[in-house]
Amino acid sequence: MLAFYGLMVALISRGHFMALLVQKFGGTSVGSAERIAAVADRIIRARAKGHRLVVVVSAMSGETNRLVQLAQQINPSAGGRDYDMVIATGEQVTVGLLALALQHRGCKAQALLGWQVPIETDQAFGKARIQNIASENIHRLLDEDQVVIVAGFQGVTEVGEVTTLGRGGSDTTAVAIAAAIKADECQIFTDVDGVYTTDPRVVERARKLSKITFEEMLEMASLGSKVLQIRSVEFAGKYNVPLRVLSSFDEGPGTLITLDNEESTMEQPLISGIAFSRDEAKITVQGVPDVPGAAYQILGPIGAANIEVDMIVQNVGMNKTTDFTFTIQRGDYKKAMKVLESSLVNMSGVQLKGTEDICKVSLVGVGMRSHAGIASQMFKVLADEVINIQMISTSEIKISIVINEKYLELAVRALHTAFGLDAPQDLSEIAETPSA
Ligand code: ASP
Ligand code: MG
Repeated sequence: MLAFYGLMVALISRGHFMALLVQKFGGTSVGSAERIAAVADRIIRARAKGHRLVVVVSAMSGETNRLVQLAQQINPSAGGRDYDMVIATGEQVTVGLLALALQHRGCKAQALLGWQVPIETDQAFGKARIQNIASENIHRLLDEDQVVIVAGFQGVTEVGEVTTLGRGGSDTTAVAIAAAIKADECQIFTDVDGVYTTDPRVVERARKLSKITFEEMLEMASLGSKVLQIRSVEFAGKYNVPLRVLSSFDEGPGTLITLDNEESTMEQPLISGIAFSRDEAKITVQGVPDVPGAAYQILGPIGAANIEVDMIVQNVGMNKTTDFTFTIQRGDYKKAMKVLESSLVNMSGVQLKGTEDICKVSLVGVGMRSHAGIASQMFKVLADEVINIQMISTSEIKISIVINEKYLELAVRALHTAFGLDAPQDLSEIAETPSA
């Protein structure tokens, strides 16, 4: 099965196999009339190879931000149904334009909005979850030899309300459609040419990975490597949709995201990448009584307010009280502090403290499973750079630390080098190696 799958993947990437593909083009790729024309040309080349295509597009780059600002200018607490009505419109423009571009080139194409597919979601406006995609309409259009162009980022509730899937949600749309129509591959075209060992803007010598596992990618994405929306990777892993990230501006094979099979584990380096996130805040409740229910009393109301908690640290001190510390997304910080200020009034003697100037840095790699000592190696690198670690958390394939935000670049660069992830210095280094 794996061999067959591998063969198919190889065939698709070389274009020898007439495949059913979902191709997703992000905001930068459809950022102007010229770029939409270039996407249309690329789609026509894929069609010429015999592939059947469903294409998902984002709004033009900057457009969703513009719509968000517009809404907030009109109503600073904009949210809910009518907010989604506004911010879903960017994608309506790009699907229509792309369909027109294809038709102009003599290619049959039809644009669909979320509700026309339909992509059914729950009612969580602004971060709706896809519940079901009825694939009949898509299959019917494919059978008519049309290129089906679907608006990313949007869905529809049971009662016909327009919803949006959260920022960057077009990736999730693409993967969910790929799962629903059982596509051979879901290809995410973006302005980077693949997944890197870390953000090349922070580490110049970051390397492109040809392959990464769903699990690793999930960690990389959730930790702030903004290549793919995290929910899209979860979805792809759950439904085993082969996912490929590639550039809209050149023809490279990009990075393939697949299952962690044994073969790839053997070749796997210890660490596949370093992820980081500045989007963090830390809250500490001091003097929490060491009694059953205390953690729940703190985090219950946070959960009820729909705030996601990430790392949690608690330790009992000598005086039988604990400091309870946890991290959340920075955008939720003020809300979380408010929630706690009112929910903790009855917990006597506690003190609330928080800070927004932290960041999280993580080593990620399935190779870690079979090796001990990675954590201490990591802590040594940080000690050598005199960087103080505020929090630590680990899983089978990841070690995360929280540090002061001002040390982010330093920490990531030092770790990247220490774990052997740096790309060769320059071409002369390679050129000097005598060829066999
Ligand atoms: N246009 C939406 C956003 O900017 C969705 C996406 O780009 O994936 O968040
Ligand atoms: Mg995007």
